[in-house]
Amino acid sequence: MDLQESIAIVRNRIAAAAAKSGQSVSDITLVAVSKTVDSETVRQAYELGISDFGENRVQELTHKIDQFPQANWHFIGRLQTNKVKDVVGKVALIHSLDRWNLAERLNRRGLQQGVTVPCLVQVNVAGEEQKAGINPDEVESFLESLGQLEALRIYGLMTMAPILDQGEKARPVFKELYQIKEKVSKNRYNSVSLRYLSMGMSQDYEVAIEEGANIVRVGSAIFHPE
Ligand SMILES: *Cc1c(COP(=O)(O)O)cnc(C)c1O
Repeated sequence: MDLQESIAIVRNRIAAAAAKSGQSVSDITLVAVSKTVDSETVRQAYELGISDFGENRVQELTHKIDQFPQANWHFIGRLQTNKVKDVVGKVALIHSLDRWNLAERLNRRGLQQGVTVPCLVQVNVAGEEQKAGINPDEVESFLESLGQLEALRIYGLMTMAPILDQGEKARPVFKELYQIKEKVSKNRYNSVSLRYLSMGMSQDYEVAIEEGANIVRVGSAIFHPE
């Protein structure tokens, strides 16, 4: 299967899942996770209409941004505080804000550069020890505190579901993140407007969209289809 075909399949499945969930397909952002492919493949995907790409390592991200500054780049991995300067002002969205000291560093850098820093708060819904993200019951107080950091803009929540043998099994995790978003959306926080839910990867993006995702991060289904 070539890239054009795999992209068409993913787009069709996104459209079907969007229809099922009552969302408009135009409201759903497909982030093609390009961490396993080279810049030439990114260029091909870009020419096939993919506008958003995700990377989970800063060095790789920086390299690819240099090659394709015209794309929207998303940082989706664990961000070390000493790499903050390589990301602020360069990406459309950081999906993985998962701790207070990272928030402070992002804010400081944003203020220095005179830019805002668009972020999603990563939530560890499944409670897996090895996964990053704040606990579901700390989301409200975290958002409250983030309001003090003037350069940050919090646009939503992100989660990574456990890797399971079937996408369907991730459904409860996606449902829960949606419920957290609904609950905390009733409050008002400075600089917070929860419009995005980033959830779903190759094995479960359709389930995620059915449960309210409007950003999906899809790597292997696009770049290494079976
Ligand atoms: C790699 C990665 C993805 C994409 O995973 P696939 O299973 O290849 O679709 C999505 N989100 C994050 C945070 C990742 O690291």
